[in-house]
Amino acid sequence: MTVPAIGPSLTGAARAARIRAEVTAGAAELAARLAVVVATEDESTAWYVRSLARAAAKTGVACDTVVLPADAAPERVRETLAGLSTDPRVHGIILQTPLPPGAVAADLAGAIAPEKDVDGANPSSLGRLAAGLPAFAPATAEAVVELLDAHDVRLGGRTAAVVGRSTVVGKPLAHLLLDRDATVTVCHSRTPDLAGVTSRADVVVAAAGRPGLITAAHVREGAVVVDVGTNATEDGGLVGDVAAAEVGAKAALSPVPGGVGPITTALLLRHTVMAAARAAGADLPSPAAPGPTAAAGG
Ligand code: NAD
Repeated sequence: MTVPAIGPSLTGAARAARIRAEVTAGAAELAARLAVVVATEDESTAWYVRSLARAAAKTGVACDTVVLPADAAPERVRETLAGLSTDPRVHGIILQTPLPPGAVAADLAGAIAPEKDVDGANPSSLGRLAAGLPAFAPATAEAVVELLDAHDVRLGGRTAAVVGRSTVVGKPLAHLLLDRDATVTVCHSRTPDLAGVTSRADVVVAAAGRPGLITAAHVREGAVVVDVGTNATEDGGLVGDVAAAEVGAKAALSPVPGGVGPITTALLLRHTVMAAARAAGADLPSPAAPGPTAAAGG
């Protein structure tokens, strides 16, 4: 096993490029198509959707942005998702947040057909993931495991602390890490003595959306730290949840930007091509298939 070097060494670009190359090989032939539903005028969402569309264009995945008004009724969003779910030209569907007032993301995402749910947003996808059944995992959660694999970080038999319990990152990630035989503790805003938990873990994943939350005191010497946080700074930049300079001096750390983010985008495209291949009748390995121990019920 290669032990990742201390510092911001857990970069995502190389693995993201590898996934995109693999996607490019199948996308055009399958006429793979992703639909991104947007019902917000939020600037950072618009930026994210544009970068996803650019990545899709490079790989040959067609990417349609379906724009609804920022005050669209939840029922209209639901009908849009249901329509895309039955459209045979569309293979993957993503519902962007934030959503209009009154709309509940997990509720509306129930209208995304599970076989097209490439960002694991339909509650049934999370349920299947928890049950060890094939399902698309939320791309960000899967990207954390993919990043660790890319840097040969062993998970089996090791301890992991996940900071954040959201449905899109913390909870599905806990299941993915369990499937890889890690011993997982999920921390959140009401966890007493956060540093006491995280500083004992071999692997720490920060997904709280709080800049500077994870300091040197939260991390043991030689640990592996994955920073999922994306927090906009006043000068238009982006920082994670980890105090990068001090943590990077004692642990292997993923940078923000340039760590989990590029892999997340690449995985959404990979999932779309997998969905297109399955729609075309190809026999593919299941997404997020459980590891050997989990499959055996261990
Ligand atoms: P969320 O707001 O839904 O959840 C945040 C979680 O952090 C909650 O479970 C909360 O209990 C926990 N938390 C908040 N303050 C805490 C504290 N002081 N101590 C311990 N736990 C605390 O956020 P989310 O949607 O899960 O996103 C988390 C972060 O990841 C955000 O910065 C988001 O922008 C980022 N994100 C990145 C990507 C990517 O591709 N890189 C994708 C999705 C989300």
